[in-house]
This record gives sequence, C-alpha cells and structure tokens, in this order.
Amino acid sequence: MPTERKFPPSKLSNLEKGREINLPVEFIQGLSSALSLQEVLDSISQWIHKLFDAERASITLQNGNDLLKLYSISGNKAIPLDYDVPISNTFVGRVFSQRTLTVCDDLEQSHELDCQLLSQFGLKTCMDAPLISGDICLGTLNVAHNQTNYYTELHALKLQCLANWIALNIRLHLQVKELKHLALTDHLTGAPNRRAFTTTIMQSIHEFHEQGKLFCIGLMDIDHFKALNDRYGHNAGDYVLQHVVKITAEIVNYIGHISRIGGEEFAIILYQSSEQEAVDLFKTIKDALANSVIKYDDDEICFTVSIGVTHVNESDNAPESLLRRSDQALYKAKSMGRNRVNTFTTARLLS
Ligand code: GH3
Ligand code: MG
Ligand code: MG
Repeated sequence: MPTERKFPPSKLSNLEKGREINLPVEFIQGLSSALSLQEVLDSISQWIHKLFDAERASITLQNGNDLLKLYSISGNKAIPLDYDVPISNTFVGRVFSQRTLTVCDDLEQSHELDCQLLSQFGLKTCMDAPLISGDICLGTLNVAHNQTNYYTELHALKLQCLANWIALNIRLHLQVKELKHLALTDHLTGAPNRRAFTTTIMQSIHEFHEQGKLFCIGLMDIDHFKALNDRYGHNAGDYVLQHVVKITAEIVNYIGHISRIGGEEFAIILYQSSEQEAVDLFKTIKDALANSVIKYDDDEICFTVSIGVTHVNESDNAPESLLRRSDQALYKAKSMGRNRVNTFTTARLLS
C-alpha cells in the first residue's frame, strides 16, 4: 500500500467546488493585527495546530538556495526551532520544490530525514503544503498527527486553501521587512546608511543620558579619493569603498559599527570605550587600511584615511553636535597632512 499521496493544484481544484471553510474569528483578527512576521508565523502555527487537531504544526521559510528554516512550531518539538532543513532529500524539501501538497501516511516507512525525526518522536503521519504566492514558493505549512492514515482529502484541501491565503500575508510582511532593510542600507557596501546611522546615534544619545552608556564617534574620510577614482576608474573606487567597510567592520565587531554616511565618508560608533581605547582602535583601523594593498584588475591600489574623533558629553542632545565636533577634528586631521587620527577634545594630533 503506498504511504504517500500527492495533491497537485489540479486535483485540489476538483475538490473545491461548493466547499466552504469555517475559520474562528480570533484567527483572522490575530493575523490581521500581527505587527511582525514572527507574530504572523506564531499565530498561524498555533491556529493550524488547533484547526487540524494536530500533534504538531510548523512553518518553514526558504533560507538561501538549499535550506528551509523552521520559523515557528506549535506542539511536539521533534524538529527544533531555527533548524535548517535541507531541501534535498527531505519530505518538506520535496513539497517545497515540487510545489505540491503531499501526505505521508506512515512516517515510519519513510527514509527521509525529517520524517524519521518526526517518527522518532512518536508521530505517525504528516501533511505539508507549499506556501505559494503568485509565482513564488515561500516555504511550507506542516501538520503532523499521531495516527497513521489520519489525513483525508478534505484535510488536504483545507490546508492548501489556508496555505495560499497565509502565503500572501507572509509575503506582505517579508516585503515590508525587505523595504525597511533597503531604506536603511547602503546598496554598494551593505553598511547601514546615513538614515540608519541617525536613528542609531539618537538612540545612543538617549541611552547615554538615561543609563550613562558612553560612546564615541569617529568620522572617517578616504584621503584623495577623487584622485584614486581618476587614476584607477570609478569601479575600482567602488571596490575600495567595499573594502573599507569590510576591514573596518571586522575590527569594530562587537564593540561598535560602521555606517556609510556620504560618498567616501563613514561614521564609526564605538561603545563603552575610554578615550584612549577608542583612539587606539581608530589608529588600528587607519593602519589596517593604509597597509592593505587592493588588487583590482592589474592594479595594486593603496590609499589612506583620516579620522576625526569625539566622545559624547552632557551637552549632546542631538546627532548634530557630535557630528560637528568630529567633523572639525577630521578637518584638522586633513589639514595636518591626512593619514591620521585626531580627537576634538584634545585638539591635538595623535599620530
Ligand atoms: P580629501 O582627501 O580632502 O578628502 O580629498 P578627496 O578627493 O577624497 O575628496 P573630494 O571631496 O574632493 O572627493 C570625493 C570623491 O569621492 C569625489 C567622488 O567622485 C567620489 N565618490 C563619492 N561617492 C562615490 C562612490 O560611490 N563611488 C566612487 N567610486 N566614488 C565616489
Ligand atoms: Mg576624501
Ligand atoms: Mg569627503
């Protein structure tokens, strides 16, 4: 006896005629009032769990080319949250890539990894539906039960109808998330942009006044960048900008971050460091960039940066005052010959 049944859209549409689906009002209201994608996913898995009398309900979404990530579970935790399920050689992966609702009537008979995991935790049958919106498959909606051969054709129809409706909801949330990301990210380097930096620094100023959390800013500008562009070309210049972000982000990892706030101008925030520690770190960045030789086409490109530093103080209530001080320190670093770190407070050349 086959242990698997497939319900392609054509088969389901034959079952659809004259059918109705009843849904609890709370489910619909919960979904429409969810503020984040995670809230949507949690609400869906909880309601699907109830509506299908399931032992377990879960949602996976595509994560890169080869994986489906488990984002929400209600009930049995046979496969844990955040688990990355490979698309190849798994039941859920097949449902995703074939875009076809499939029922496994006896999990014990299956050799696929996810079915085996479910079976080891006492589950006997599962039914997975693709989450299709337009021409995109986003992931899968899954239920599992502790009786073999439990799910009927009507269950399949109901799950796929819900999956189609839910997929649209998930896609809208994913698009909002993507738009937020695009609005806050510099597309060339992947670093936070000026808008994101302004939001972060306002938050940091607030935390400084409320909780005494210190931070400082280094305004970093590439020296003679126009000449670099003129000599090696604009694409090489773009490559240098990417390199600057990569190297700096590696150095400030955990204690701060870099944003691109202008053409060849970056703002680096460092948290909880003393003035001397901050200056030392900015010097490390300056030296790391000055010592890197960038191979681009047949060229080997060298360049330097100048950095103007200032610490937050009691009089700072908005980003402008911090930016003004670090800009003055930067201006001085430039006028003193570039390739150096200068702090506003001491107004003294440090290297
Ligand atoms: P200084 O040492 O005084 O900072 O000199 P500079 O040449 O770096 O400064 P200037 O302001 O004269 O020139 C900045 C250059 O940065 C001019 C502009 O073409 C270049 N630039 C700005 N944005 C980009 C970008 O996205 N890609 C590339 N390749 N160049 C950029
Ligand atoms: Mg410059
Ligand atoms: Mg500049």
